[in-house]
Amino acid sequence: MRCEVLAVGTELLLGQVVDTNSAWIGEQLAIAGIDSHYQVKVGDNQSRIVACIRQALARSDAVICCGGLGPTQDDITREAIAEVLGVALDLDDEVAARIEQLFGSRGRNMALNNLRQAEVPRGATVIPQVRGTAPGLICRLGDRSVYAVPGVPHEMREMVMRAVIPDLVAQSGEVATILSRTLRTWGLAESTLAELLGDRMASLDKLGADGRPAPTIAFLASGIEGIKVRITAKAASAAEASGLVTAEEAAIRQLLGPAVFGADDQNMEAAVGSILRDRGLTVGVAESLTGGLLGSRLTAVPGASEWFRGSLVVYASEAKRKLLGVGDGPVVSEAAAIQMATGVASTLGADIGMALTGVAGPTEQDGQPVGVVWIAISGAMGEAGAPDVMTRKLQLGGDRDQIRQISTISALDLLRRRLLDG
Ligand code: ATP
Ligand code: MG
Repeated sequence: MRCEVLAVGTELLLGQVVDTNSAWIGEQLAIAGIDSHYQVKVGDNQSRIVACIRQALARSDAVICCGGLGPTQDDITREAIAEVLGVALDLDDEVAARIEQLFGSRGRNMALNNLRQAEVPRGATVIPQVRGTAPGLICRLGDRSVYAVPGVPHEMREMVMRAVIPDLVAQSGEVATILSRTLRTWGLAESTLAELLGDRMASLDKLGADGRPAPTIAFLASGIEGIKVRITAKAASAAEASGLVTAEEAAIRQLLGPAVFGADDQNMEAAVGSILRDRGLTVGVAESLTGGLLGSRLTAVPGASEWFRGSLVVYASEAKRKLLGVGDGPVVSEAAAIQMATGVASTLGADIGMALTGVAGPTEQDGQPVGVVWIAISGAMGEAGAPDVMTRKLQLGGDRDQIRQISTISALDLLRRRLLDG
């Protein structure tokens, strides 16, 4: 089953709106195991929309059109689909009544052109609207399908999940459940991940080619959130798909070791928080170049009060010296990072102190180049509870924002690995 995406709207071509719909739909198609080889954008012009739909149907089994379903004169996706199908547009009484009722319930008078949204290409199935006013469409042309969904992202998403993906899966003729789990990694390059998992992926490909049940593995580089490894399994039943995913997850975790910090929605701060909670430890942080980013991420975790004591933003050298007892000498240094970490642990009464000091740019500082960051972690880590200090020097590339963000997640990752080792 192959399905393309056609995003309709002149605003997309002019760059006034970024086409996030296609990206999202592409992701859902992939998760559902449906191949998608093209994404096209077209303006609000009927003959060009018609040409795009025809081209899509010539090379794929289905096309999802998003946008141009609204009430105004430039919303012409319905007309274009009717032209491709070679049928007339009929007013659907049920849809019309629903639109009138929606306006009534909001206490607004309905402009007559809203009824344009109740026009349906003859023979098409309506996807009832639950959020906005524009219904979606499912149309067949021989063994091909044309779907129309609204352009407004939340309306589009709801309709794609509720009606389009299930219909595509049904059309593909496979009775299958598709499950996926995403493992989240930090600290390894994509090429390293590919190398570590290469043999595994090759043997899964071979199983799949032999028609045996085998999950697929895909990488998704997610910038400052690390690299995601997605496991997807398709099977006749949910239990079978879940079994395949779980077994594959165990195998991948074995191969990647501590680089895997979480699964699905679990982010780095949540991973750190759960270890701290399990160990009954608390942490306090001292931040210079990150200006509170670390504290902000940690406090975003529900239940953070159990293990997070606080964050001191000590930006000026004077603040580091006065509040945390940092001695004379350069403040972007290993010694200063250690003093900040031990200082904040005792000031905030935390088991663990963590500190960041560095040069975010754009200019160098104290003779240190942009991108130099010192991280220090102090405090009782191991079972024995012996106080100890560890440091790490980073040399980061990127702009000021990237340096601040990567420092933050790197510090969290360092703490996570330290706790796992302890
Ligand atoms: P409505 O019934 O609300 O008019 P519609 O189907 O006519 O919906 P459009 O008029 O094409 O949709 O788009 C409405 C808004 O949705 C656009 O102004 C834009 O903000 C957003 N939108 C449309 N297409 C996309 C897209 N491909 N990606 C992201 N946002 C989009
Ligand atoms: Mg519109």
